[in-house]
Amino acid sequence: MDTPPNVHDAEPIPESARAEIDRLLQSGDLFRYTAPEDAPVALLETEFAKMMGAKYALAVASCSAALFLSLKALDLPRNTKVLIPAFTFAAVPSSVVHADCTPVLVEVQDNYRIDMTDFEAKLTPDVGAVIISHMRGHTSDMDAIMRLCDAAEIPVIEDAAHSLGTRWHGRKIGTIGKIGCFSFQSYKMLNAGEGGILITDDAELAARAVIMSGAYEHNWKKHKTPRGENSTDLEDAFARWQNKLPLYNTRLSNLSAAVIRPQLGELDRRVTDGLRNHDYVAAKLEKCPWISVPAPLVPETRAPDSIQFNLIDVTDDETRAFQEAAKSRGVSVQVFGMSEDNARAFWNWQFIGDQGPLPKTRAMLSRACDTRLPVRLKKPELDFIADAITAAIDDVKSRKKCSAA
Ligand SMILES: *Cc1c(COP(=O)(O)O)cnc(C)c1O
Repeated sequence: MDTPPNVHDAEPIPESARAEIDRLLQSGDLFRYTAPEDAPVALLETEFAKMMGAKYALAVASCSAALFLSLKALDLPRNTKVLIPAFTFAAVPSSVVHADCTPVLVEVQDNYRIDMTDFEAKLTPDVGAVIISHMRGHTSDMDAIMRLCDAAEIPVIEDAAHSLGTRWHGRKIGTIGKIGCFSFQSYKMLNAGEGGILITDDAELAARAVIMSGAYEHNWKKHKTPRGENSTDLEDAFARWQNKLPLYNTRLSNLSAAVIRPQLGELDRRVTDGLRNHDYVAAKLEKCPWISVPAPLVPETRAPDSIQFNLIDVTDDETRAFQEAAKSRGVSVQVFGMSEDNARAFWNWQFIGDQGPLPKTRAMLSRACDTRLPVRLKKPELDFIADAITAAIDDVKSRKKCSAA
């Protein structure tokens, strides 16, 4: 194949979404709380909770809104410290600021996972919560994190925005911490353009988040447990919090739910395809001495829809030249710390103030490359991408070692 693959489009939305969308357009019933029961958003919550094995799910406007509501649900006093990894998307420190808390950045290693020495040092008694961003689906050491946080009684929120389908010791990512948050933005495993969902087994947190998401008056009565029965734990919690919480109105529309629900059945296949595609490209890149693809941690089974790799023994100029060379070969590679104003480079989060030098994360970001690999790509497209990347590094190195590999 000689034309670059399209890496921007997601998979088509399953055809079965159309009938439900037509029905909603006919009736105009787009608001989740109009119907007395079984609104598409409520059905999505029930199905998602069941799929994940969680008790409660709350669908909202974005994963950012889910992270914000998670922090508000924890009832943290103003300016409480919240640990987050220094390698994540700008939406994560933003959600902490939005919740009137103070983000504290933790160093990340060159395998994109949290540096546990820095994590342990920063997990001081004044930390009120921890957000673990499984950035680009890379899972940090959840055994060590949960051991430390459980011992200190500090709640863990999993930012699994880009990690749906990933497993840790076989367990679904997003079900390990107290709350798990996911995204339905178009670049994630389930695509509604925009949207998010949080899951928890804690009735108190679920009730608080539901009310604050905009379940005004008695709309909370339309929230059910996965079994479809009203849970008394949840009802008691709703009664306790009635009229006591602000309403942030960050709900999901029925149209979005109608787009997402038919994709739930596609998830397992997307995860399998994404992992197969990733590992195929990774194996080709690994043959090149100037490229290293960090291995998953032993307990981790990944669900990637993009690939990250590090450039080895290259200068800053060569790194920039490599990006240009890949681009001219039709493949967009971003080096997180090299492109101007990148939203994943912590020094661009100027709204959180100076967080110190964070040398490990900075060094990683200056050599870590990111390329999209939508799960629908086929072998010739994967070959095109892998070959363009290896040829691009040869373009900038005088001795050719990679393109022949
Ligand atoms: C996409 C993403 C987010 C934000 O999700 P939205 O639904 O766009 O708010 C947060 N964290 C990570 C790791 C992401 O990949």
